[in-house]
Amino acid sequence: MSKILEIFNTMEYGPAPEAPDAVKAWLDEHGRKFGLFINNEWVTPKGAKFYPSYNPANGELLAETTQAGQKEVDAAVGASREAFKTWSKTPGVVRARYLYAIARNLQKHSRLLAVLESMDNGKPIRESRDIDVPLLARHFYYYAGWAQLMETELRDYQSVGVVGQIIPWNFPLLMLAWKIAPAIAMGNTVVLKPASYTRLTALLFAEIVAEAGLPAGVVNVITGSSSAGSMIVEHPDVDKIAFTGSTDVGRTLRKQTAGSGKKLSLELGGKSPFVVFDDADLDGAVEGVVDAIWFNQGQVCCAGSRLIVQENVAAKFIQKLKNRMQHMRVGDPLDKSIDMGAIVDQSQWDTIDGWVKTGIAEGGECFQPNIALPEKGLFYKPTLITGLDPAASTVQEEIFGPVLVSLTFRTPSEAIELANNTRYGLAASVWSDNINLALDVASKIKAGSVWVNCTNQFDGASGFGGYRESGYGREGGREGLFEYLRPTWMDRPRPEFVLDEKKKWGEHVPTLPTQPGVARANGHSLPLVDRTPKMYIGGKQVRPDGAYTSSVLSAKGKLVGQVGDGNRKDIRDAVEAAHKARTSGWAMRHGYNRSQILYFIAENLDARNAEFVKRIVEMTGRTQKSAQAEVDASVERLFTYAAWADKYGGTVQETTLRGITVAVNEPMGVIGIACPDENPLLGFISLMAPAIARGNSVVMIPSQKYPLSAMDFYQVLDTSDVPGGVVNIVTGDRDHLVKTLVQHEDVDSVWYFGSAEGSYHVENESAANMKRTWTGYGLLRDWMSREQGEGHEFLHEATQVKNIWVPTGE
Ligand code: NAP
Repeated sequence: MSKILEIFNTMEYGPAPEAPDAVKAWLDEHGRKFGLFINNEWVTPKGAKFYPSYNPANGELLAETTQAGQKEVDAAVGASREAFKTWSKTPGVVRARYLYAIARNLQKHSRLLAVLESMDNGKPIRESRDIDVPLLARHFYYYAGWAQLMETELRDYQSVGVVGQIIPWNFPLLMLAWKIAPAIAMGNTVVLKPASYTRLTALLFAEIVAEAGLPAGVVNVITGSSSAGSMIVEHPDVDKIAFTGSTDVGRTLRKQTAGSGKKLSLELGGKSPFVVFDDADLDGAVEGVVDAIWFNQGQVCCAGSRLIVQENVAAKFIQKLKNRMQHMRVGDPLDKSIDMGAIVDQSQWDTIDGWVKTGIAEGGECFQPNIALPEKGLFYKPTLITGLDPAASTVQEEIFGPVLVSLTFRTPSEAIELANNTRYGLAASVWSDNINLALDVASKIKAGSVWVNCTNQFDGASGFGGYRESGYGREGGREGLFEYLRPTWMDRPRPEFVLDEKKKWGEHVPTLPTQPGVARANGHSLPLVDRTPKMYIGGKQVRPDGAYTSSVLSAKGKLVGQVGDGNRKDIRDAVEAAHKARTSGWAMRHGYNRSQILYFIAENLDARNAEFVKRIVEMTGRTQKSAQAEVDASVERLFTYAAWADKYGGTVQETTLRGITVAVNEPMGVIGIACPDENPLLGFISLMAPAIARGNSVVMIPSQKYPLSAMDFYQVLDTSDVPGGVVNIVTGDRDHLVKTLVQHEDVDSVWYFGSAEGSYHVENESAANMKRTWTGYGLLRDWMSREQGEGHEFLHEATQVKNIWVPTGE
């Protein structure tokens, strides 16, 4: 008996290496030198310089790749544009066959792909073989299905065009699949740039795709530095940029594309919480931590890098975790029994080590297990830092390495507060045996993916993406399709404007008095009875803070009324009121209740139909008939969103999880909305109604030219049971007011339907806090038409998708 115990205690794993021969043969076949893959051909730029790619596990030179310059970027975009002409017209069912063929081909070459991925990136073969590559194929199968169904299920949409895709080095193949599969399924063509540290699998992928028979130019892969990435972003013939990478580069891209009309999706960094309640299966949760933070050496955007554990079990849990860490195996990525491989590059290794030193300097206690690391190669021990302050930079900033920080909490609300105490919002894990508690916490954490009693679950059928500074847009699932689609009626916006560099955007210009209106009575001229509407904030009429007034003129230049000229303070007050309304429960009300209120608003507007018609005629000089049509359409639109108030909650996703994956369409939060001048009432209602129907509270800036309809409308709101603060209305200079909204940290999204130049500024300013925006680029929209003025596009903008994963079974 004691002998058996002795054997168990001294037993070591033997090496179980995966052979690199096939990879070496492939590299040799290319002379260990690669050009760019454009139009299904290898292209080597004239006089090209080559740069080495090393295996981070042993420093071995794998191959050399080249850098694309402007000429090559132009060639790749040109090839993509040419291919788009036919690919976008190719029937979905035919495109589906190509995606299916790609998926089949990827499966056939799965071992080659997995081994190369591990050699190029340093990740354990266990992960590249069992996770990265199967998911790669899965995405092409999943989106083959959507290509098949596009013409029937997505009838109101068209392809976007040429898509520039830029990916990071942590999941080179998976990130490429997340981007390329939905893009080409929807009829787009792509130019993809992999990260400089990990270029090889993207090149192998390109070859495999060509082998599957994909028409030339549909997928182009060009290697290059960040400047090549920048050239793709700036290229005028690129219609959309899809980026995955750091928040800082995401910010740069937002600025670069501002005002261009290019679609943009950003999958950025994270600092995701891993919350453990005292009733959780602690041993299971320890394994969860291992998968959350030491998967891929912690170089994972959604890594559970902040452990938040209930105080009464914290000591026990940490001890269990430390014991488990002592058994982790760090070493050769090609060894099949390795838990953690190599860090991708020396500079990343230095960054990680720098963070650990910072953590210690910030007062943290650092634990690293007493395990052996290979003598050569970029290996780092799994690391745990306890005892840090929640505000410490090590707790707040993304480390992107195998470093876990831990905090404790006492109550569920404290856990939620700590979990949300970050500028990011990518993912979260919640561990508790009380499913009610776990789901309640899951619904309150601001993150795009929440895993209950599990972690790092991914599948083609479920979207992935961030809240807040983790970016916007989703990859995966049906929701991921909309990043690669445009409504059929809409051309690619190509806004034209000249930036006035001398003028500071959004400066307040006080308005001056105009000639007053005059009435006649009993043969006398009389000044008009003053009915200047105030602002509408928190359900109350309030005077403008600055005590300025602006005049509303008719089409003939006559004074028809005056409104308050709002300023920064008015906007800040309105945002505060909107927040109060949100947190006091508007978003929590069930859809039935919100729909009742929208019906009530519609009834009350209709009851005052004639008055609103008169106002539109008075302000705009349009005919009675056209004004009547606008008011009728406004009533109708309220009915539409009363309908949608309880029909857009989300879906059950058909993922590979044994359990339930639910996509919840959560409200954005507080939305700032600047309304268009065309259709002063209908424009206002078309934007307000979807936002509040889906549980947001709003700060509305009505048409600057014709604000009186919106101001009349607050009396309708007052009589329709709309809780104070759900709709706030601030009148004045549109751009001045919207600037404060964009810069405001507590506004979650800004919609802007003003000028092209204003759209540029809104997008440009939004980069500071990565706020989601929706702009009209100064282009006219037919608000009267149902196609352009209502529906999915609006609901999509009013919500963000959270995927909650709940495994089932004993
Ligand atoms: P990165 O430095 O932002 O680089 C990402 C990609 O952008 C690389 O291809 C890079 O090229 C390129 N690039 C850099 N600067 C550019 C510029 N100015 N213009 C255009 N392209 C530019 O990020 P990373 O270090 O590779 O990746 C780590 C980051 O990605 C982490 O923050 C992580 O959280 C995030 N990430 C997010 C997700 C998600 O789904 N949310 C998934 C994975 C990773 P070079 O490599 O040539 O510099």
